[in-house]
Amino acid sequence: VEAEKKSGAPPFEVPEVRFTKLFINGCFVDAVSGRTFQTRDPRSGDVIASVAEGDREDVDLAVKAARDAFDHGEWPRMSGSERGRIMTRFAELVERHADELAALESLDGGKLPAVTKAVDIGNAAGSLRYFAGAADKIHGETLKMRGQFQGCTLREPLGVAGLIIPWNFPTTMFTIKVAPALAAGCTVVVKPAEQTPLSALFLADLAKQAGIPDGVINVVPGFGPTAGAAIASHMDVDTVSFTGSTEVGRLIMEASARSNLKPVSLELGGKSPLIIFDDADLDMAVELAISANFFNKGEACVAASRVYVQESVYDRFEKKLAERMRSWVVGDPLNDPRADQGPQVDKAQYERVLSYIEHGKREGATLLTGGRPCGQKGYYIQPAVFTNVKEDMVIAKEEIFGPVMCLMKFKTVEEAIARANATRYGLGAGVVTRDMEVASRVVRSVRAGLVWVNCYFALSNDCPFGGRGMSGFGGDEGMQALDKYLAVKCVVAPLRGSPW
Ligand code: ADP
Repeated sequence: VEAEKKSGAPPFEVPEVRFTKLFINGCFVDAVSGRTFQTRDPRSGDVIASVAEGDREDVDLAVKAARDAFDHGEWPRMSGSERGRIMTRFAELVERHADELAALESLDGGKLPAVTKAVDIGNAAGSLRYFAGAADKIHGETLKMRGQFQGCTLREPLGVAGLIIPWNFPTTMFTIKVAPALAAGCTVVVKPAEQTPLSALFLADLAKQAGIPDGVINVVPGFGPTAGAAIASHMDVDTVSFTGSTEVGRLIMEASARSNLKPVSLELGGKSPLIIFDDADLDMAVELAISANFFNKGEACVAASRVYVQESVYDRFEKKLAERMRSWVVGDPLNDPRADQGPQVDKAQYERVLSYIEHGKREGATLLTGGRPCGQKGYYIQPAVFTNVKEDMVIAKEEIFGPVMCLMKFKTVEEAIARANATRYGLGAGVVTRDMEVASRVVRSVRAGLVWVNCYFALSNDCPFGGRGMSGFGGDEGMQALDKYLAVKCVVAPLRGSPW
């Protein structure tokens, strides 16, 4: 990036958009209705491409293709090692196309391409490799039966998995759900978010090139209440894995309950706390608070949007934070290599974040820095740091999903823990201290699915990623994610005269 800066050349070229249709049974096809929707460049609001708009009939076709591939196709029947081999090829293709994919994500979602390449695409390829390695290690147990019987469990693929994903990390979300499903032997129907449909279609093409048989991966771009709801309520979809808002998570569960009681897993919103104690390295703590809030323009479910700083160092922390934010650059992710932050994903999100900022001001919080729109066009916002925030303010309670940090003071460890837990969410949490006893108390007491000590956002494909309470259940990544796509079958036979 430094070299690119010197040469003045943009580091990533604007990619050509090659795939805009639904991907069903190995082919790119128009929607049954013939309808399309527009996906826009958040740097300008201009249309990038018209994308086929999937609806209920298209979901039916995609589910039928996935069902046939599951019931009659080779994918669930081939050996785990062969599935793993093909998935590894898919991972290699993702890596080979990392620049193009990263640029596509920037164009469609306003992300920084260099970071996207390193973080999102690295994680995506990593996830495919991780679960490729697991595909031949799926087995049941031998049971110690009572009486003259022998028993064992088989772990079988569940069937057709519906995967509904959000717009903030499109490539990663696609792969962290697709990879364990494929390793288990399931077939899938993916619905990317309407804001960012392009990378999922690009990935579908790579999957085909890798040799994943037709019908195993189907991709239906479209809107939530139509295409998404059709997946959630489909009688022939055997499980749904969803990442998105808590509000839609409820609808997914309801749809499952009203249809075929498919198991669902939900990775939802958060309002995660970051607790900074007075013995912390304050420069490091400032960097952590910034990245925990403004990484990916704050569009991250685990963003630490509540930052608690111990009273005795609060003023110093606030001063250092304000100072550091002066050199923070909001800019065009594809043309300004200095940019730390690109535009919010779309107009609706941009307006939502700005209205939360206005609300915060009206509630009596003080803006330490930022909080205003910036740039001539597009959906850019200067990251906002609020001080004088009270626990019962809307900005301290609701997930904003944008670059808005709430700074608060605390006195004791007990108080910090109680306030950190004073939320119905339970996704991430962070603690910054040199005192390992304090760290350990926070780690054990905080209600969250992920806790970071003296770091934030550090993740790896073997880290289970998911929450508690209104942040959902049944997270992604790590070996336990495989279980979401497997059913346990118990087999019992007499010891003598065994039918086996
Ligand atoms: P966000 O608020 O972050 O945009 P959403 O929860 O609205 O997140 O969206 C996440 C994903 O869920 C998207 O793919 C979206 O289209 C889909 N979705 C939205 N509404 C529904 C619904 N009623 N049923 C199923 N999926 C939906």
